[in-house]
Parts: sequence; C-alpha cells; structure tokens
Amino acid sequence: MKIKEIKAKSIITKSGLPDSDFVINPYVGCMHGCIYCYARFMKRFTNHKEPWGKFLDIKINASDLIPEKTEKYKNKSITIASVTDAYQPMERKYKLMRGILTNLIPLQPDLCIMTKSDLIVRDIDLLKNFKKCMAGVSLALLDEHIRKEVEPFASPIDKRINAVKELQKAGIRTFIFVSPMLPEFTDWEGIINKTKDFVNEFWFENLNIRATNWPHIKRWLETKHPDLLEKYERIYFTKSDYWNKIEQEIKSFCISKKLNFSVYFHHQKSYS
Ligand code: SF4
Repeated sequence: MKIKEIKAKSIITKSGLPDSDFVINPYVGCMHGCIYCYARFMKRFTNHKEPWGKFLDIKINASDLIPEKTEKYKNKSITIASVTDAYQPMERKYKLMRGILTNLIPLQPDLCIMTKSDLIVRDIDLLKNFKKCMAGVSLALLDEHIRKEVEPFASPIDKRINAVKELQKAGIRTFIFVSPMLPEFTDWEGIINKTKDFVNEFWFENLNIRATNWPHIKRWLETKHPDLLEKYERIYFTKSDYWNKIEQEIKSFCISKKLNFSVYFHHQKSYS
C-alpha cells in the first residue's frame, strides 16, 4: 500500500451525482479495494501506477480548505464521499472527517454521508450539529462470505448494520444504499426486512459495468463462481430485461410497505 500525504487545492467541488450539489472526497484512492469499484477511473486523473486499492493520498489540509464564513453552501447538498470512502481504515489515524465536519457545522449544508465502514459512529457527536443530515451505509450483501470476496477491507455486514442503528438512535436520519446490486447475490428484500425498523430511506443501484471494473468482476466470477459468468454476460452484453424486472419488483414491494425509496438504475450499456 502506497500512502502519501498531500496538500489539496480545493475540497468542496461541484457534484456530478444526482441529488447532490457538491461533494467532498478527503482521500484519493480507497483502501477498501472493492472489486466492482467505479472510482477506479480516478487512477487516470491522478497518475497513479499502482492498482486500485493499493494507493492512498491523504488530503491532510482538507479541513483548512473549508471557508469560515459563506452562505454558499447553506441548504445546498454536500455528499461525502463519491470516489473514495471517508471512513476507510486510515481515517482512524488521520481523523480528517473530524476536522471537515467541525468546519462544516457553521455553514449548515444539507449533508449526506455514505460509507462502508462502521467508523462513522465515532463522529455522531458532530453529525448531531447539522440541522439537515442523512447518514448511512452502502450494503448490497447479507452473506459475509461473499462480502469478503468482493469488499475485502470494508466493514463486515453486521458492523455496518449496527452503525446505522446507532446513527438512528442518535436522531440522525438514516439510509441504506443497496449498491451495487449483484445478480444472484443481492437479497434486497432480505436487506429491507432486516433493517427497515431503523432506516428512513432505501436507495437502490444496480451493478454498473464499465471497462475499468468488468475485468475484475469477470475474474472474480471465473475463479469463485464460474457457473454465473454466462448469466452476467447475458445480462450485460445482450438485450436483457433483467434489471427492468427487478426495478418493478423493488418499486411494488417498497410501495406496498410504504417505504421511502429511490431507484438509481442504469439501463443503458455504459461499457466505456
Ligand atoms: S468503498 Fe467505495 S470507493 Fe472504496 S473501493 Fe469500495 S466502492 Fe470504491
């Protein structure tokens, strides 16, 4: 793992995400090393030669880059994080998020924090100071054995679920981002049933295949689940209505259970 401290030029940047005005990414790279990670494309922009998951730049001046007084972000949505995980293992040492959150409180943005780590509970004391704050985890698996295969260094499933419980207990609005939904592995109904008592919103996103992540997913299927490779190829590389059907099932289920939910499905081929 190549770890480097860097000084960033800016920290709050315009967002390309749906439902978000700005994003904060305290790190470049991610130690969680998920095999399907879409953020791999970051390698192109940062001149890193190391494989994804094997480098990390730490923006040690992140909190200093947040302006002291401005109305610019008041009630504007800021998402943390989009191409890294703000609560990955190095955060235990560097505590960038403590500084970032402390300096964001006076600006009162509409904050959204998403992670695959239970370390987020460390910052509940700070999160409680935001009038508008949603915090949650991405969770697409209930089988710890498969989780270890695809998200080797992220927090275990139970710890993530407990983190959401703690957040809700502290009065913070919570969500579970069921993403990326993996054909044959994601039991979305099971996730809802297990967590709906302490989750305010469910968001769903299907696995998005890109040129950067497909080789890794394919290798995983070939080595661990060869019987499923053909199915994935059929879903992603032929005309298939697999995701249309799942989308309809999710919508019907969530409506019948009166759940707050959003579906962010990619139906177009995005192999680029
Ligand atoms: S936690 Fe998120 S950013 Fe980090 S490797 Fe996994 S998918 Fe990528």
